[in-house]
Order: sequence, then structure tokens, then C-alpha cells
Amino acid sequence: MKQTEKKIDITNCPVCGNSKFSKYLDTRDYFFTKEEFSLSKCMECSFVFTNPIPLNLSRYYETEEYLSHHSEKGGLVSRVYSHIRSLNIQRKYNLVSNYTKTGSILDIGCGTGELLGYFQKKGWETKGIEPDKNAREVAINKNNIDAVDEILIDKIPGSSFDVVSMWHVLEHVLDLNCRIKDVKRITKNNGTMIFALPNLNSPDSKKYGKYWSALDVPRHLYHFTQESFEKLISKHDLELVHAEPMKFDAFYVSMLSEKYLNNKMPLISAALTGLKSNNMAKKKNNYSSMIFVVKNK
Ligand SMILES: [Zn+2]
Repeated sequence: MKQTEKKIDITNCPVCGNSKFSKYLDTRDYFFTKEEFSLSKCMECSFVFTNPIPLNLSRYYETEEYLSHHSEKGGLVSRVYSHIRSLNIQRKYNLVSNYTKTGSILDIGCGTGELLGYFQKKGWETKGIEPDKNAREVAINKNNIDAVDEILIDKIPGSSFDVVSMWHVLEHVLDLNCRIKDVKRITKNNGTMIFALPNLNSPDSKKYGKYWSALDVPRHLYHFTQESFEKLISKHDLELVHAEPMKFDAFYVSMLSEKYLNNKMPLISAALTGLKSNNMAKKKNNYSSMIFVVKNK
């Protein structure tokens, strides 16, 4: 990486280290600032990333609507999202307990802590990491979660959690290799790591192209596929044991994408695209968003 006054240029692919890139596409921060951003594609391993990355990233999160992704307020899209989230909590819990029955969980990017609150009620020990101060305070005060700032991740002792999860978080983290090392270090031997990520190879991504809302530049720095994720973790001697879809995401992502395309009736088009995307993804397991389960050996 090369840092100047206003931006960070990625000079080496975070997955394979190669320095030759091609332009993948130009897009915009359709969600908030409408500023233009570019995505590069590694010519060696095909990993796609936002490049350059603006230095003052926090200002791209300073929107009521973006924060409402994490709380109960907001417009129709946010309310639908909140509803889906509560439906998803139980599903996430069931998935995790398939791999680790009970114990301790660290959720990195825990937001307002609803998921961890659910684990707590089921008898788990919980801890959260959340960079956003407002979200963190809700997690602490409303959901009784021991939530700390991201900079404290280094203070967490090694092999201290049975499960470490990052639900739609890794794509926001600047230093991918460093974060994978953290997660591996903190997870106990035979523990479980969970990564949920948008999938650049999904049918809805291909349909919407630069309008695909899960590009979400510049907040999403990295744009994974199952292939690139597996390459990244294999460098850290980790292996994927399971990949499963988050089927609701095809609808939510399509709804936002239709809004970016100025469709005045986004719900109908999004419902159709969501159904079609999930149907097309059955064969290759390349759904709009994927949950990857990784075991620590
Ligand atoms: Zn590469």
C-alpha cells in the first residue's frame, strides 16, 4: 500500500501479492456521497478491490441511513432489513451451534449487539468488537454486551474464544491479512470462524454490474468470491469447511440496486431478480451473499 495525503493506493494484491492490475469497473457511492470510485482486478488471481481507497473513510459512514442498517429506525428498506435481521439471528445461531454446541463467542463488528444478546440468552459467554461508538453504546446499554473498540483487538488473549464471527465485516477491513491473523490467533484450537461476505460472482452482481448495491464503495474495500476468500485463508493455513447462502440478501441487495437505477417501483423488480438470482445460484452455490465456515486446526 502507498499512502498519500488523501488516499491509499493498493500496490500489491492482498491475496496473492502480485502488482499487476487491470481496471474492473468504475462505480459510485450511490448510497451516500455519489462520489466516483474505481475497482481494480488482480491480473494473477482475479481478486477485485476498491483502488485507490480514500484516507478519511469514517466520513463515508456518517449518514443516518447507513447507521440505521444497525438500528431499528429508518425507511422501508431499513425496516425490511431489520425484520430480515431478526429472522436471520436464529438461523445464524443454529449454524454456529452445528459446529460448536456452546461456549464463548467473539463477534467482530457486532453492531448494536442483537445477535450476541441471543447467544447470551442461550447461555454463551459473549464479547463484541465494534468501531462505531453509537452502536457500541447500544450494545452495552441495551443488550448488556461487553463491547469494545476495534483498536482493543490486540489485547484479546490468544486461543480465548470457541467461535469468532465476522458477519459482513471483513470486506470493510483495510488490512485483510492482519485481520485473518487476529481471528486465527484468538480462536481456540478446533474452534470455529465464521465469515459472511457479499459474493461478486453472484447472478445479481452480474446483472447489476456497477449498480450492484453490495459493491457499496468506498465502505466495501474488497469484493470477494468464494475462490478469492479460499485463496486468502489458505495463505494462513486455514481451510474452508462449509459454504452456505444468505438467500434474503439477494432481495435486499436487488432492492437497493433498483433504487440506484432510479426504478420507481423497486420492490417488484427486486422480488423478481432476487428469486431469479437464488434460483440460478443453486447449481454453483454462488448466491448473493455467502457464509463461510472455517475451522481452526
Ligand atoms: Zn492477486
